[in-house]
Amino acid sequence: MNSLFLYEGKAKKVFQYTDNTVMIFFKDDATAGNRAKEAVFKGKGELNASISAKLFEHLHKYSIDTHFIELNGKREHHCHQLNIIPIEVVVRNRAAGTFSKRYSVETGTTLRNVVVEWCLKDDALADPPICDDAIVALGITDVVTLNNMRATSISVNNILTQLFRRVGLQLVDFKLEFGLNEEGKLLLADEICPDTMRLWNNQNESFDKDLFRNDSGDLLAGYRKVEELLINTL
Ligand code: UDP
Repeated sequence: MNSLFLYEGKAKKVFQYTDNTVMIFFKDDATAGNRAKEAVFKGKGELNASISAKLFEHLHKYSIDTHFIELNGKREHHCHQLNIIPIEVVVRNRAAGTFSKRYSVETGTTLRNVVVEWCLKDDALADPPICDDAIVALGITDVVTLNNMRATSISVNNILTQLFRRVGLQLVDFKLEFGLNEEGKLLLADEICPDTMRLWNNQNESFDKDLFRNDSGDLLAGYRKVEELLINTL
């Protein structure tokens, strides 16, 4: 089937097919701090495509509806085309990253409840946090959809926390994106991989993009370990 180039982001390229599906190509590029830091890790695209495919397939077993159809080759996802809601949903189990900085909380502090945050997906504004009322006031989406996004994000957190616990990793936090299909149904979109989550072992060592953000170790080795653990478990 012929495809048409649609969009290139920081870590992915998207091509459109004629049947309301898209092909998402996972790049080797890594960026952090809204492009303040950039590098290329040969093989990262394949690892993220593989890990993300496994996680979407795992979520399907628990009836979480996602855009993912199948892995194409080694680094492409064939997915349903959606209208992406420009909100990044961040789910947190432990304090880290911007949460630690914003509230001056020590990294790793256990949170008494799961925290779900919304950020506006807008690179020019550096993805600012946004509250429910502002999202609805600006016409970004409605309250029912927001509630559905929140409930689904909490379910995803429960499922993935359990899965990673089984392989000896802690799911510290992660980012999700959602979209609506042509019938207006809400589906989980984008990717779920070590670029978009924090995963620590029991010594609180990172297996995710913090290896690059903080220059604290070998990014590809970390991502390979996550893939290997999932292959051996799923
Ligand atoms: N995250 C992401 N994309 C973003 C911002 C955050 O995938 O544009 C992920 C990030 O990898 C982490 C979680 O969301 O797992 C929480 O990130 P945080 O808000 O702490 O921001 P960051 O540390 O990326 O500045």
